[in-house]
Amino acid sequence: MAFCGNCKSLVYPVGGKLSCKKCGWSSDGPAAANVVRTAASGTKRVVLEKKEEARPLQTTTCPKCSHDRAYFHLMQTRRSDEPPTQINECEACHHSWRDYG
Ligand SMILES: [Zn+2]
Ligand SMILES: [Zn+2]
Repeated sequence: MAFCGNCKSLVYPVGGKLSCKKCGWSSDGPAAANVVRTAASGTKRVVLEKKEEARPLQTTTCPKCSHDRAYFHLMQTRRSDEPPTQINECEACHHSWRDYG
């Protein structure tokens, strides 16, 4: 048994390598060694890794280049009774701007 190096779902060998049907990850990269070793040792420990590229995308229009998708994250302001500020970052030109409320 092996797990996807990206989304941790079960993967099966396809054509001599592991590939994930869910996210398209395959064992071609250096992550393959880790997956094989984890499977061989029989441990079921799930390692939670922080992936920078796993930022959520939303459909919105960039005010700078009119691209229709942008990354976003919420930033809580110091006062908890205020709504969090939403920071958008354009997928295409990386211009960032704020959405309030
Ligand atoms: Zn996957
Ligand atoms: Zn843009």
